[in-house]
Amino acid sequence: MSTTVNEAHCHTGITEPVKTITPADLPLCCPLPDECVVDAHPRVYLALDAQGRARCQYCSREFVLSTETA
Ligand SMILES: [Zn+2]
Repeated sequence: MSTTVNEAHCHTGITEPVKTITPADLPLCCPLPDECVVDAHPRVYLALDAQGRARCQYCSREFVLSTETA
């Protein structure tokens, strides 16, 4: 059991391997504007593929576009 998660002063650290985004999050960038960037890489913009998915080459996180409308 080695759960060394450093939550420090960051409420929304990048811990999710797959992040669901909505059209409101487009254009997609990683880290997302509302995410803590203290321990993250420089913000980059990502292009979604035909399936509405994108993978950040820096943190290997996968983004999946949700087309559900609330
Ligand atoms: Zn990233």
